[in-house]
Amino acid sequence: MRHPIQYRSSRQKIGSFCRLGPAPVFAAELRNCVNAINKPGTVIISHNHGDHFGGAGNFGDLDFYAESEVAEQLNSTTDFTDLYSRKVIGVTGTQMIGDLTFAFDKVSNAETGENGYIYKVKHKIVFAEDLIYNLTHPYLERIYPK
Ligand SMILES: [Zn+2]
Repeated sequence: MRHPIQYRSSRQKIGSFCRLGPAPVFAAELRNCVNAINKPGTVIISHNHGDHFGGAGNFGDLDFYAESEVAEQLNSTTDFTDLYSRKVIGVTGTQMIGDLTFAFDKVSNAETGENGYIYKVKHKIVFAEDLIYNLTHPYLERIYPK
């Protein structure tokens, strides 16, 4: 299933839809969306699985961030470094990215050895990444019934 993401560009009132699909087309489409909004881009990677970094080559000019242990894993994984030649910036605690401050943390031995996630306490937002799957968490099942 493809998930459309609506975005606004600085010149358009409402931009086109970015329809995300399977890699590697997905990364090219996402890159087009980043370019269209005409703002600085950054990549945050949650963990060292290919489906999370397979499109890294499309973003070689951008900074990549990850929780510190995840960053170490990525920086020493040939499958990743073949796609992205710069070093992933490891974060312990908080990191200012653009105008926003993100807190980075991880859970060990869940979906993989080190599962990074980020959150913003001020806005009560958690980017749980692969720690939560659709319809597998009871709280989400109550909010989004079938
Ligand atoms: Zn994974």
